[in-house]
Amino acid sequence: MRQLEDTYKHKGLRKQLVQEISRKGIKDKAVLNAIHKIPRHFFFDKIFDAHAYEDKAFPIDAGQTISQPYTVAFQSELLQVKPEDKILEIGTGSGYQACVLLELGAKVYTIEYQKKLYQKAIRFLPKLGYQPHMYQGDGSKGITRFAPYDGIIVTAGAPTIPEELIKQLKIGGRLVIPVGNNDIQSMVLIEKVSENKIKKKQFDNFSFVPLRGERGWPTNGEIK
Ligand code: SAM
Repeated sequence: MRQLEDTYKHKGLRKQLVQEISRKGIKDKAVLNAIHKIPRHFFFDKIFDAHAYEDKAFPIDAGQTISQPYTVAFQSELLQVKPEDKILEIGTGSGYQACVLLELGAKVYTIEYQKKLYQKAIRFLPKLGYQPHMYQGDGSKGITRFAPYDGIIVTAGAPTIPEELIKQLKIGGRLVIPVGNNDIQSMVLIEKVSENKIKKKQFDNFSFVPLRGERGWPTNGEIK
């Protein structure tokens, strides 16, 4: 296991990263503070340290990615997390976004499709002092047994908005989900106004790895 060392150089680079995403339009102070606090390089192999504070997505295991910091901040800002909110994240990946949600004070449930990534995250995050509830499997239909949620964040590109996710939101809850094709998706925010009414807003384009599973894209024979 890599040594977890957070040097002045890392801290300095992290500060610059926060300034960069703030210049790009992120305003939520709690979100910026969370990104400032969490050593993103801990989620990278040591040899790739230098890339951890670039505002870019980066490959992790199993053909997946740790999302771009700006994207993490953008989705977190749209969620409007309040302390003690119950948040479901679909697509644990490296676990970085889950840590940001924990720093915002949320109770975090997170599910990952790829067994290898799930196993890595469940061993690694507690070493950093982060304890989200972690699950492995297809999260494209949410996790009914812990519903309803104050917020649901999907960190993989979906072909359509799964109805099940809207059902699992509390009234007043928010779903943040990238929707589009395999190359490009627009960020969609759904606010559940009442049991039968939603408000939908569409934001900028992003590029995520595909959401798999029953409400996602076919797998092309990828291994879980
Ligand atoms: N949130 C992650 C982070 O902070 O590193 C980034 C996640 S990566 C862009 C998207 C993740 O979604 C991948 O790890 C992928 O395996 C996962 N995924 C795709 N389809 C899924 C599904 N149906 N259920 C759960 N996870 C899924």
